[in-house]
Amino acid sequence: MAREIFTEGIVLRRGYAGEYDKWISFLTPEYGKLHLRVRGARKPKSKMGMLTEPLNLLKARVIEGRAQQLIAQPQLVRSYIALRADLERLSVALALCETLDRWLPEAHAEPGAYATLIVALEALEAGFVAEQAAAWALWRWLAMLGYCPDLRWCGQCGGELAMPSPPTPLPRRGRGERDSPSPTPWERRSGGEGVLLIPAEGVLLCSQCARPQEGIALTTEALSLLQQWTQGERMNSDARPEACRSLMRAALRYAECALESSVRWLEFWERLNALRDSG
Ligand SMILES: [Zn+2]
Repeated sequence: MAREIFTEGIVLRRGYAGEYDKWISFLTPEYGKLHLRVRGARKPKSKMGMLTEPLNLLKARVIEGRAQQLIAQPQLVRSYIALRADLERLSVALALCETLDRWLPEAHAEPGAYATLIVALEALEAGFVAEQAAAWALWRWLAMLGYCPDLRWCGQCGGELAMPSPPTPLPRRGRGERDSPSPTPWERRSGGEGVLLIPAEGVLLCSQCARPQEGIALTTEALSLLQQWTQGERMNSDARPEACRSLMRAALRYAECALESSVRWLEFWERLNALRDSG
């Protein structure tokens, strides 16, 4: 990197440094993720401090210091005001930033990952379903980083995975209703079709191979969404929230295994949803 650059980027995370400074993780399209010191950010009434908070999109100078890189003269480009006013969207947005911060190496340009984050934040800002924005971004990142399993062929028998047909509604089961014969856990979770994701092996299994195994069940609708998203398709406003939610959980559980990345925020998300569902 030159001694000084002018770039756009988004603040993913921040921490404290020394008595008056802080550091930020700043994601830029051209230079990747930068670890930058913000001088004087914690002095009372510091404008630098306000500007360099997570989720702020900035234009700024990055200066190569003797031992570290510094951010200077940040200008606010976008602060995503609407999503900050909604606890669910705000928590998803911050979680996406934190996740990307963990997944990306430092100073390695990944313009697709940056663009994906911006699209997801814009979707959240516009009020798009949070589960889908999160699942879409997480799976695109996994694919970009080379961690997406083969979505076309079964990892065991080599057969073609359920080709997506128009989504069929899953059978509804009332409370106390018994199925006969009793379905396996996989059939209960996937509706008897779909595929099984085996995180430890990074493969998907077809419905025939899936039965006796433990893994993450995905319906044919979820598989179809996943195939579309990883091929560059946009979010789809017709997608059902349950399919998106299952893909979001699957991405995080899969990443926990593939990238050894913790899923702390998944627990938070599930608590938030439990609160919401209980009214
Ligand atoms: Zn198979």
